[in-house]
Amino acid sequence: MSLITPHSLETIDTPVRHARVAHRVVCTEAEGPGKRFALWFQGCPLRCAGCCNPHFLSFTGGQLLPLETLALEITQAVSEHRVEGITLLGGEPTAQPEAAAFLLRHAHTLGVNTLVFSGHSHEELQARQHPAVDALLAQTDWLVDGPYDHTQPEPVRRFIGSANQRLLTLSDRVRADDPRWLGSNTLEIRMRNGTIEVNGFPTASLSTLSPWLGKGQR
Ligand code: SF4
Repeated sequence: MSLITPHSLETIDTPVRHARVAHRVVCTEAEGPGKRFALWFQGCPLRCAGCCNPHFLSFTGGQLLPLETLALEITQAVSEHRVEGITLLGGEPTAQPEAAAFLLRHAHTLGVNTLVFSGHSHEELQARQHPAVDALLAQTDWLVDGPYDHTQPEPVRRFIGSANQRLLTLSDRVRADDPRWLGSNTLEIRMRNGTIEVNGFPTASLSTLSPWLGKGQR
């Protein structure tokens, strides 16, 4: 396993050096198969009815963080928590394609897999013919695509909000038939800086718990 250092991060080859971030969890088992580093981007151009993260939609909220900082957090998550992959969600990861592509590529240099949740379809993203979006897709192993539809709750697959959303395998680094995509969902509750934070599914539980919670992410 290679460990990237602050010195080597000086060679970032993207003109974008920051990401607007809503939240991240260093090690979660509720945002994709296995232990994962999860990062929620701040900002989404879509407005799905029943969106679980309405406080992540504005492009002016969250924190603007250096990519070097986020890359080091991923490195530490791999070395200290043995995460097997990273998950990018939001908000909308493809709305910050340069930053997302950089973080995904960094994960691959560490030997871990990548999962991206997007409200856009794979075909819509390809049709943009945007170099950074193409780079993002090239570094994506699993893609869960399409807008969240609260009228079609997902009945079988884990980690996925609605039945219309597809799980696409875009590389051979991961298995299309990985059985961990099936089974009961996971809801994680943790205390951080005096605030109770929740991530994972089922989202219905968030509304049940909301009187006591500070933030909810899915
Ligand atoms: S794409 Fe995701 S974050 Fe954006 S509005 Fe839809 S559910 Fe919410």
